[in-house]
Amino acid sequence: MGKCKNITRLLSDALDRPLTAGEWVSVGLHLPTCSGCRNYRKHIGLLRAASREVSGLDGAGEVRPEE
Ligand SMILES: [Zn+2]
Repeated sequence: MGKCKNITRLLSDALDRPLTAGEWVSVGLHLPTCSGCRNYRKHIGLLRAASREVSGLDGAGEVRPEE
């Protein structure tokens, strides 16, 4: 379960900085196996989209987790 804490941390970090290849591998291997972390990613993605819509200027060129 400690894995999930690490993965959600990486998903959160991905909004603010590029993840390393190794970090993406960890996320990519874990997400298909864990609905909780997929829901977390969806949740923060929606929050991000909502805040961008409100502000109108945030998020240009950001790196997003792949579907
Ligand atoms: Zn998980």
